[in-house]
Amino acid sequence: MLELDGIETFYGTIQALFGMALVCEAGQVTTLLGRNGMGKTTTVGSIIGTVPCRAGTIRFDGEVISGKPAYEVAQRGIGLVPEGRQVFPNLSVRENLIATAANYSGGDDPWTLERVLDFFPRLAERLDNQGSQLSGGEQQMLAIGRALMLNPRLLILDEATEGLAPLIRQEIWRRLEELKQSGLTILLIDKNIDEFAHIADTHYIVEKGQVVWQGLSDELLGDDELKSNYLGI
Ligand code: ATP
Repeated sequence: MLELDGIETFYGTIQALFGMALVCEAGQVTTLLGRNGMGKTTTVGSIIGTVPCRAGTIRFDGEVISGKPAYEVAQRGIGLVPEGRQVFPNLSVRENLIATAANYSGGDDPWTLERVLDFFPRLAERLDNQGSQLSGGEQQMLAIGRALMLNPRLLILDEATEGLAPLIRQEIWRRLEELKQSGLTILLIDKNIDEFAHIADTHYIVEKGQVVWQGLSDELLGDDELKSNYLGI
């Protein structure tokens, strides 16, 4: 569904990605792993068009999307749950959700406000509260719900469990597992490998702006040297 090939991305004169390449197969959960500052968020920015690449090609369903503005990439069905959640603080939960409503996947049974509230009942209880009044976990649910309201075919989550309590993290993982079972394609950036390995299919490890390893969950979990060298765990 998504293919990055030879991606080179810069911030001014500083190069952050050096030939980044990865593939997300339809219906699978693919992860992008690596220590801080290695280029994961920049890869996400290159995919969604907020940090455009200077070289290389990004294809989504066979169509070249590199070079397109972010709103056109979103319209093709790529939803983002951004690092730091970035919910609109002075909009209510309801307004945060309906602000992005669209059926970009064109499915028969699209995500609606009601469906998102069924999926995250805690948001239903907080519907008229402002984004800034929510707990971290509720904000994360709101960020995921907001991305679902676009009805994406690919959902990208950048550090979706960062800073959350274990119980809330477990709830997020359960929800993501349900989304996978519904057929959604997911690209996941996260540090809690042990918690999400069972729902992930393929992993890519990024080091200094390029992929240094790719493989399956069992291969990754069983390789202590790999985890210690590239992930610091
Ligand atoms: P983290 O987990 O800390 O977000 P990351 O793997 O997502 O790390 P990036 O944020 O993509 O890493 O950063 C990759 C490189 O690009 C780093 O060297 C970083 O310092 C640099 N970088 C990121 N954002 C900017 C920016 N806005 N301006 C200049 N350099 C940046």
